[in-house]
Amino acid sequence: MAQAAAKTRVPAVEGWFRMDGDAPHLIGSRCRSCGCVFFPREQTFCRNPDCSGSEFEDVALSRRGTLWSFTDNRYPPPAPYVSPDPFEPYAIAAVELAAERMVVLGQVARGVGVDRLRSGMEMELVLDTLYSDDAHEYMIWKWRPVAA
Ligand SMILES: [Zn+2]
Repeated sequence: MAQAAAKTRVPAVEGWFRMDGDAPHLIGSRCRSCGCVFFPREQTFCRNPDCSGSEFEDVALSRRGTLWSFTDNRYPPPAPYVSPDPFEPYAIAAVELAAERMVVLGQVARGVGVDRLRSGMEMELVLDTLYSDDAHEYMIWKWRPVAA
């Protein structure tokens, strides 16, 4: 009996994160003029209204942050978002990164419901499958409580 070939893991969105082994991280942009950090990456104009900078460098964002807010998603988002079929409800977390002074949204890791989330808890970035086809697993970042 033929064994199913392992699927290749690829990012679901290109250029938003690095899939480095045990330490995946989001990729942001730091303005060379004012030092502000942005996510998703910024390539043209600094979003700081007091800055006219237009040069940016890629920076690895913090892999841990504080849970600022969260909610439950019980309905599949509209296309082009690809949802598993049948749809599995998931929690969405807004996590504050202290060093970058920004909030990054993401799904909460599979199996962690809102009943296990508390504002202020420490969250860690992990990678998980968003969806898959015959040859690939499409990976996305998710937030998971550090204690889990
Ligand atoms: Zn700037």
